[in-house]
Amino acid sequence: MPYAEVAVNAAAPLRQTFTYGVPDGLSVVPGQAVYVPFGRRTLQGVVVELAAETGLVEVREIEAVIDSRPMLSPAQVEVARWLSDHYLAPLFDCVSLFLPPGFNRRPLALLRPLASLEELPRLSLTDKQQRVLAYVIERGEVEAEELRRGLGLTNTPSLVGALLRRGLIQRSYRLARPQVRPKVVPHLRLLVAADEALARASGLRQDGSAGAASAGSGRRRRRAAVLEALAEEGSLPLARLRDRGLTAAVLRDLEGEGLAVVEDVTVIRDPLAGRVYRQRPASALTDDQGSASSAVVKALEAAGPGPPAPPFLLQGVTGSGKTEVYLAALEGALALGRRAIVLVPEISLTPQTVRRFGERFPGQVAVMHSGLSLGEHFDMWHEVREGRYGVVIGPRGALFAPQPDLGLVIIDEEHEWSYKQQEGSPRYHARRTAEELCRLSGAVLVLGSATPDVESRFRAEEGAYRLLELPQRLHQLEDGSVVPSPLPEVEVVDLRVELKEGNRSIFSRALSRGVEQALARGEQVILFLNRRGTAAFVQCRDCGEVPQCRSCAVSLTYHASEAALVCHYCRRQVASPKACARCGSRRIRRLGLGTEGVEEEARRAFPGARTLRWDRDVTRGRHSHEAILARFLAQEADILVGTQMIAKGLDIPLVTLAGIVSADVALHFPDFRSGERTFQLLEQVAGRAGRGPKGGRVIIQSYSPDHYAVVAAAAHDFQALYEREVRLRRRLGYPPFGRLIRLVYAHTGAAYSQEQATAMVRHLKGERDRLGLPNLDILGPAPAFVARLRGRWRWQIVLRGDDPAALLWDLPLPRGWTLDVDPISLL
Ligand code: ADP
Ligand code: ZN
Ligand code: ZN
Repeated sequence: MPYAEVAVNAAAPLRQTFTYGVPDGLSVVPGQAVYVPFGRRTLQGVVVELAAETGLVEVREIEAVIDSRPMLSPAQVEVARWLSDHYLAPLFDCVSLFLPPGFNRRPLALLRPLASLEELPRLSLTDKQQRVLAYVIERGEVEAEELRRGLGLTNTPSLVGALLRRGLIQRSYRLARPQVRPKVVPHLRLLVAADEALARASGLRQDGSAGAASAGSGRRRRRAAVLEALAEEGSLPLARLRDRGLTAAVLRDLEGEGLAVVEDVTVIRDPLAGRVYRQRPASALTDDQGSASSAVVKALEAAGPGPPAPPFLLQGVTGSGKTEVYLAALEGALALGRRAIVLVPEISLTPQTVRRFGERFPGQVAVMHSGLSLGEHFDMWHEVREGRYGVVIGPRGALFAPQPDLGLVIIDEEHEWSYKQQEGSPRYHARRTAEELCRLSGAVLVLGSATPDVESRFRAEEGAYRLLELPQRLHQLEDGSVVPSPLPEVEVVDLRVELKEGNRSIFSRALSRGVEQALARGEQVILFLNRRGTAAFVQCRDCGEVPQCRSCAVSLTYHASEAALVCHYCRRQVASPKACARCGSRRIRRLGLGTEGVEEEARRAFPGARTLRWDRDVTRGRHSHEAILARFLAQEADILVGTQMIAKGLDIPLVTLAGIVSADVALHFPDFRSGERTFQLLEQVAGRAGRGPKGGRVIIQSYSPDHYAVVAAAAHDFQALYEREVRLRRRLGYPPFGRLIRLVYAHTGAAYSQEQATAMVRHLKGERDRLGLPNLDILGPAPAFVARLRGRWRWQIVLRGDDPAALLWDLPLPRGWTLDVDPISLL
């Protein structure tokens, strides 16, 4: 095949390929990385297709092959092309997902001789050329950089060029392994007991407030704050303590008094490294688990030519043993000599799940995560490509691992939003992409969740997915056998009533009582809060009413700058009401409460209890997630206050009560998925309670106890939620009944940004009419939910219809615009 279609790493956002000639003697296959001339530069590219002919009159030739082995398998090349088409993203961006880490760095150029020492005198070379050639001949193979240094000549590149042109040496490339440096992070470690640190801190605070605003009082206060943080964590990175007030002077004070010391901590990057797992044998599966896993294994056995198996949707309530089904399916795949990829929402939040995989298949599990250095990642990529690991486990990006003989892909908690890439390009969804990957490589896909995405469940109803169900939560007995156990009971507390009856605390009487009872019995409690509580919407404290947009069915957002409520879909703007539209009450308030506030309140309300907080603020270090979980598991705290994070796959047997401090924040986000999202969160949090022998209960506090998502969660009724969502979305044309594309424009000029967005809407509408595209709504422009980000004013346009991509297919977007196909959120 003399021609190759190449995806080129040009800075421009190009969706097309470029045609190059394949020079004689160069063997090139799809998936291979090459150097190609592009304008006056030489760029990297990846061959996506070979062709016998071209319609072009003049084509340039591929310059060199970067690595003799293809980087992408044929199936992966097809997935990259699909990604580019589906997400309207530059082809090279899509190809890049599959490339080894460090690909963008300069590869090593290796020189090999094509002449012998005897021939040298007869070649009529210059002196310098002779020296270069002799050097290469003597070594057999030499790296260009080493040659330059070894000879100490000023113009080696041009000498090499001359020899290359005369065919006396040959050049090839190899990707250089990036250097690995152990990652060391300076920490401040407490040298005294936590109690003492706290006592000192409170002493400092008293001194600080006594002497009014003296020069030293701020410093004392900062010292106290640092001590308090250390008392909590023992040791913290200096960088994080700076937020708490650590300065050079404070550090000197603490070190001088012998209270704390700075030390370097080596960050361990491989969550499985250095841990020896005792192999855990397979559990005897229950009947439900057995039939689910054998359906998957049958599909694995049937894989091969013929129509690919549809993906499985494994819907099982929390604690129903989905992970055991994954493990059995993996065993089946490995027994057939196939390999697997397992996706989890976030490695650091799911340590228990990762460990279970490591325990079942010791030595066969590779964990990919963001803490790997470039060098480690590079090594892992190459080891995986060699087939070293039966199972690769990681967040969404692990889907692109070069796993040979891929037979099985598992996506745990498939409803999680982290499976969608939300920045950069392409903004792919791992679930949708996994479908393509599995279809094209003959692999089986298993999606698992207790609360599937409404769209996934809809696909199952349509027959596009095969539904497998685990309807019962399991409870393990002493002897290791399991029995069905009920899901925790859920009580919904109406906060409007609490308020009417004079309770102004953030904890209802029922929740306070519940917490006290659990504490008295030595059990543990989780208090959950949706952290993004700073988002503002207004709500009537008497009837719970939250003003909504009439045409978009989403909550209106309060904008302090205009003192108005704004719809973030259609931009409708209304004055912030003085009184409730439903009940006339004048007690309207803006919502917003953070985890810190909840922890403080909990300390006050339950003075004997030890509290622990788990949110993004306290877990910036890589291992602190696991550390917090370990402390809670070891019963070093009684109450865990946290955000979404605690909703993930944790198994904490002593938790008998999960309190949801407010269900309302997630509920009233201006997004059509907020009901679904709330249900998922509530169900997942509820799933954390009552996993041990003592059972458990859940208390949901809400000003909107009648909201369908709250009602459905209280009854653990996925079906009710699902049916309601499907009705709503069918009526409004939201997914799965229509597709969405979101366009965002960002610019530092507020007025300019709005003008550009307005002009774009006009242009898009013109194009739509010109192309005669039916069923395509162009909504907006409206200010983005985050109206100003990093100094840029953001405006958004939402396309909604059967095939909104058709409008953008041939329409290059000017600078400043970003595009999100199938966005998971319109916030
Ligand atoms: P899920 O992933 O659906 O939340 P898990 O797989 O974590 O559920 O199972 C819940 C608990 O039940 C775990 O502690 C697990 O070890 C246990 N378990 C599940 N299936 C079995 C089984 N067949 N035999 C013994 N224990 C089981
Ligand atoms: Zn009201
Ligand atoms: Zn609207």
